[in-house]
Amino acid sequence: MKDFRIRVFFFVLVIFFTGEASGAAAVESVKKVFRAGAATSNITPPLGSPVAGAGSTVPTNNVHDELHARALVLDDGVTRFALVVCDSSGISASICEKAREFIAANKAIQIAPENVMISATHTHSGPNANAKNYRDFLARRIADSVQRAISNLRPAKIGWGSVDEPSELFNRRWYVNDSALLKNPFGGVDKVVMNPPRGNKALDKPAGPTDPEVSFLSVQSLEGKPVALLANYSLHYVGGAGEGEISADYFGMFANRIGELLGAESGFPPFVGIMCNGTSGDVNNSDRRKKSQRRAPYEKMNEVAEKIAQGVAKAHQEIIFSEWVPLGAASRNLFLKPRKADNKMMEYAAKILERPNDVSGYPRYALKYAAYVERMGKGDYRVPDLVQVFRIGDLGIAAIPYETFAETGLRIKKESPFQDSFTIELANGAGGYLPTPAQHKLGGYETWFGTNRVQLDASDIITKAILGMMKELKAD
Ligand SMILES: [Zn+2]
Repeated sequence: MKDFRIRVFFFVLVIFFTGEASGAAAVESVKKVFRAGAATSNITPPLGSPVAGAGSTVPTNNVHDELHARALVLDDGVTRFALVVCDSSGISASICEKAREFIAANKAIQIAPENVMISATHTHSGPNANAKNYRDFLARRIADSVQRAISNLRPAKIGWGSVDEPSELFNRRWYVNDSALLKNPFGGVDKVVMNPPRGNKALDKPAGPTDPEVSFLSVQSLEGKPVALLANYSLHYVGGAGEGEISADYFGMFANRIGELLGAESGFPPFVGIMCNGTSGDVNNSDRRKKSQRRAPYEKMNEVAEKIAQGVAKAHQEIIFSEWVPLGAASRNLFLKPRKADNKMMEYAAKILERPNDVSGYPRYALKYAAYVERMGKGDYRVPDLVQVFRIGDLGIAAIPYETFAETGLRIKKESPFQDSFTIELANGAGGYLPTPAQHKLGGYETWFGTNRVQLDASDIITKAILGMMKELKAD
């Protein structure tokens, strides 16, 4: 064995000094080892604070299932990057930066901090990531997940594929034939409404598409043992957790179930399943045409997780694994501008805030949005602006720090230079909703000042930047 290594070393030396073209190829083939490592790190918060996302005030009293930062690190011998997906409703850019600082400061974590993507699933039964007693712990545990995944790096093979699952997706913005449903908190009337009353006669049609594709990438050991599977689906969340309970929602249930379906064995390092959020800012799991059905806590989440996992496991049988593919990573700050309130909004808000205890004559949520306008109307705040693109062979992955609309994700898939592509939303920041300029003209909750906080054409700027970066990585 030792003798063999010495011979390879001299062979490489000879090629190096003679500089022959055929020799250069031989050097590369010696070096080209594709490696992958995956790990989870527990990010369950202390009990007591309400869960974030659904406006609950009930203090958490139990953990239905633990929350995790789930990390996958890939390395082609030249480029190394990490995709970290956290069970959280949203993680601010400053916490993501803090996690990268921990990574940069620790020499044992050998990865370029800009090659680390940190996203949130958007579970609505997790904590507020910004809570004082949680944010540093979260950043630290994200860094730990990357370190652990790097420690688990082993030679591996990789493949990817997709399957469509349209049945769980509904565009939640609707045209309706009832102007009473269209009043906005700024004294105006919108053209569409989010989540109109279920089974209502006034329902006309949804205001946008859904993206039914479940994309996934799968990593196995060279012997064919499952190492990790990362999936991407454009569904806001499912919901239906028990009151006061912490849960990773269907994202966590999928992560566990897919391991079982792929036949992952217990042992070390353990298999890591991951479900990241696609472009679901306007897509949820609620069919507004039907009256609501009473479901037991976690019943619907389990049902969705099971359906998606079964679909992925079936499609997984068809994919082709490669023992080496080229990797690429690019990231860019776009210096996006915070949105400012217009004069009309400012005046309306000032009028409400003059007598905040008497808002009976104003539309629903008028006081809440007046407070947003007062606090943020001058645009004196920070919005996340880091976008990333990762290349895995002929698969392109984009990362956007907003709750991105389905049509933006579909456009990236269509115009991407890669054979397959998908987008991870709420990555490297949580800047609120990202409607397209056309959707801004329709109004509705996601476009309201405060819910939307970034310049109105941000989705176009982001899409162009991502497509440009994809083209550069493809050409490399
Ligand atoms: Zn949301």
